[in-house]
Order: sequence, then structure tokens, then C-alpha cells
Amino acid sequence: MSHRNWHTVAALLGGAVGMLSSAAAEAQQRRPLPKSVRVVYCVPTDREVRQDYRKAIEAGVVEMQQFYYRSLFGRTFLLNSPIVEIYHPTNEAQWYTDHVPEANPNAEHRFYVSENLSREIRQTLGARRNDPTYRWIFYIDCPPGWGSGAQGLCIMCDADLLGLSGRSKEDKRISRWIGGIGHEFGHALGLPHPPDGYDIHSMMDPEGGFRAYPDTYFAEADRKKLLKHPFIAERKPVAGITQAALYDGGYFVHVGKKRWEERRTDSNSVLYFNETERDDEHIVIHDATRDISVKLPVSDGNCFLSFKGEPWRKFYQIKW
Ligand SMILES: [Zn+2]
Repeated sequence: MSHRNWHTVAALLGGAVGMLSSAAAEAQQRRPLPKSVRVVYCVPTDREVRQDYRKAIEAGVVEMQQFYYRSLFGRTFLLNSPIVEIYHPTNEAQWYTDHVPEANPNAEHRFYVSENLSREIRQTLGARRNDPTYRWIFYIDCPPGWGSGAQGLCIMCDADLLGLSGRSKEDKRISRWIGGIGHEFGHALGLPHPPDGYDIHSMMDPEGGFRAYPDTYFAEADRKKLLKHPFIAERKPVAGITQAALYDGGYFVHVGKKRWEERRTDSNSVLYFNETERDDEHIVIHDATRDISVKLPVSDGNCFLSFKGEPWRKFYQIKW
């Protein structure tokens, strides 16, 4: 994206057309990082910015950056800073869902959102397919909720926003929707679905894999492709080198600095922990509301639980 285009974004975000306001000046200083993945939360004119959506998107992409890192043995994509940009598109939510796209009037209805939004963001944000400078992940708060990904960008709708924030009626597990990022963004990086009957539990399988996230993987052919991709390089994920500690029925995951979450695979409940200690063998996390501490082993093995400062008791079997 050129300097001039970024200026347009600053104007759209700040509404400061033609004025060198401090907000616009600040936006110019924070030019997007080259070769980064830009994550954009699109809020149509009749919707409001929801901080729970913004945070849920951020937590999801940060976790997915770590999943790529683990799958690719130390390589992953670069997230822009700020991680989630907010963009105000020019139409109401339902317009994106129902407007017959001029460029492709014969498209199936479920692709209208992708057609309509991608046309607009090409003009306003310069988000082109196969952009040499950025890869793009868009979330737009509009129905009907089909995710799509191809040629450098992916677009997801309100079903995914509801899912990431634990409010989906279709599937209450937040992990399912984080898996959805991995899958659609995989398409944006050029990965296809596996051939029928192969790698049915892998991330790029349209039915199985990503819905069972984090219990999924990239098929060997996909790993090879990703390792050669110009947007994948040796780097540390923004939230540090972390892993999800899986147990039968759920997992603990590091979501940033000292913050951990425990998620169950059978519900949308999330429990929040702060990391209180870490040494070569254990990581101790604490849930202040219930006064529960969990001591996680740094490699596979038992974790331990302490309730209200009582002695440690053997708890789940952990697999990293
Ligand atoms: Zn797919």
C-alpha cells in the first residue's frame, strides 16, 4: 500500500478529511508493517464497534499465529501493529449480504458478501488479491456468515464474530472458530482442501480438522507449501512462544503476557488465569475469582491443582 492510500485509511478512520489532525498524524506514523498480516474488523454503518468482538478477533489471530509457529517449527506470519484495525465500510450490514455484485452478478448468494466487501476494500484500503505487501483477514459484522478465503485475503462474517466471542448457536466452542481462522487464512496463503479421504483431520479439511482445533494439524503437503511462502518466516509470535496444554475435555492456552485461559471442548465457558510463577519445570497459573491455582508441567505429564492454598493434588494428564 502506498503512503497516499494509507492517508485515505487515516481519513476514513478519523473522519479528518483534509485536516492534519493529531489522530491522522499518529496514523501516518503507525504505517502498517511490510509483509504483515492485517486483520480488519469492519463495522457497517448501522452497527457499532463492539470491544468484545475486537478482543475476540485479537485473541483468535494471536493464538493462530502460535499454532502456525508450532506447526512450522519456529516459523509463522507477522501480525501488523495494531493487531486489529477497525474499518467503517460505506453501507449498512444487510447491503453486503444482499446487494447483487456488479462484477459478478451470477455469483451464488453466499458469496455476495465477499464480492461486495472485496470490491470496496480494494478501493478504500487498497486490499488487493495477492497483494505483495500484505495478507488480509477481514471480519465484517453482517449476515449470513459464510467464511471465504482465497488469493491473499479472507473474509468472515457475523457467524464467526459470534463464534469467537462464545455466542454462536451453531457451535458454542470458541476453539471451533479459532480453527476457522486457521482454515480460511490457510486458503488466503494458497492452501487447497486435501484430496477426498486424505488428511481428514487436518486444518484444511472442510469438514473435520479445523472444527476440532486445537486437536488438528497441517498436512505434510501444506506444511511444505507454507514453509516456502514469502509471508512465513522465522520469528517469534507476539504473545511469546506458547503452547496449548491439552487434556481430555479441554485445554489451557496462553493468550498474552501473563494471561491464560482454560477452555472446555464441550461448552463455551472460559476460565481466566494469571501466570504467577514459571521455572524450568512448571508454570503456575491462578484463577483469582475461584482462588484456584494450576501447576502445569512444561512437557507432557500431570498437572496439579490447589484450591484456596491447599496442598497440590494430581489433576489432568497434559499433552502439549
Ligand atoms: Zn475451505
